[in-house]
Amino acid sequence: MPGLPKLKESYELLIVGAGHAGLQAGLKSALLHHTAGVFDRGPKYARSFYAPRMDNIPGFPGSLSGHALLDKQIAQVRAVEDRVGYFTPAQVHAVRRIPDGFELEFDWLRERRTTRGRAVVFAMGVVDRMLQLQGDIKPIFPWANFGIVDFCILCDGHTLSGKSVGVLGHDRFAALTALDLLHFEPSSVELLTHGEPLLREVDEPVRAALLAELEAHQIPRVESPIASLDGIREKRFEVHLADGTSRTYDKGFSALGWWDLHQEMPRSLGAAIDSEGFVSVDEDCRALDADGHPVPGVYCVGDQKSGWNQIPEAWASAERAVIHAYANYL
Ligand SMILES: Cc1cc2nc3c(=O)[nH]c(=O)nc-3n(C[C@H](O)[C@H](O)[C@H](O)COP(=O)(O)OP(=O)(O)OC[C@H]3O[C@@H](n4cnc5c(N)ncnc54)[C@H](O)[C@@H]3O)c2cc1C
Repeated sequence: MPGLPKLKESYELLIVGAGHAGLQAGLKSALLHHTAGVFDRGPKYARSFYAPRMDNIPGFPGSLSGHALLDKQIAQVRAVEDRVGYFTPAQVHAVRRIPDGFELEFDWLRERRTTRGRAVVFAMGVVDRMLQLQGDIKPIFPWANFGIVDFCILCDGHTLSGKSVGVLGHDRFAALTALDLLHFEPSSVELLTHGEPLLREVDEPVRAALLAELEAHQIPRVESPIASLDGIREKRFEVHLADGTSRTYDKGFSALGWWDLHQEMPRSLGAAIDSEGFVSVDEDCRALDADGHPVPGVYCVGDQKSGWNQIPEAWASAERAVIHAYANYL
């Protein structure tokens, strides 16, 4: 068991969140001979924690789980503890600008604490919206944990070839996701709107065009609310509906979007949020203000920033931000 890290009064870099992006930012800081404090609620909140099988991670033929990859990255960061403090579970509550940098307020070991840094890297990721059954998100967890319900077309689209797929969602994003999945040649795709009228909030003529496209590609919809889930032992996604009927699919696919994009802290420091809700950044992952100018000392990396949500992208953005801070700011 590693010992507890010693909290310093200040670091060169403050890193908020330690999923794949934040851990890489911590490691890179140490390699560039900077100190960093890395603060994380806990690996179980990282998005890939419930990715049982990842096929695009360089150096791992035959795939590995998100959980195993996080463990490896955590071990790498713990190995540079002379420069980098990895604090978990540590919930960050606020980052404030002060003369010469930033003050970070967080809970750790049941106490509210503060520390300071010259620059801050936000790496808080995003949180997927989950199917709710009677107000509870837990029922779908077993299907998500076994990879029977997927969440990311870029990550898992390739596993759907020849499979029947039930797509969860009712809005424009869900309709577009169902259409996009056809690229991977599933045997069938069906939309499960869970009691919501399909495309209710979409204005004409976009609504009519999307409905026509769904029909042309033989993507039907099931609008009855979902009452319960079944089929976990058979590794299938079986859906019992409120109207008394059932549907069974090889795979489910969640197109429910995001629950939390963690906008509050970057916004409080002057960062602008793009039209999809992500933090606007430049190519060095500097957060941009509403006029497109970099917010001094503020970076955003990984899923939380604008761009694609993938682990190689999380790593690359972390490297870019820390190298930029090293070369230009610290
Ligand atoms: C089911 C699934 C399968 C996936 N499969 C793949 C795949 O095969 N290949 C691939 O490349 N990508 C995959 N992804 C995407 C990948 O998981 C994300 O791109 C990646 O996790 C992003 O890393 P991140 O560090 O930006 O965010 P995360 O990994 O989500 O980490 C964010 C961290 O921030 C912390 N945090 C948030 N708020 C606070 C706070 N207030 N205080 C302290 N800490 C905080 C959380 O605890 C968390 O550890 C998948 C995603 C899902 C959901």
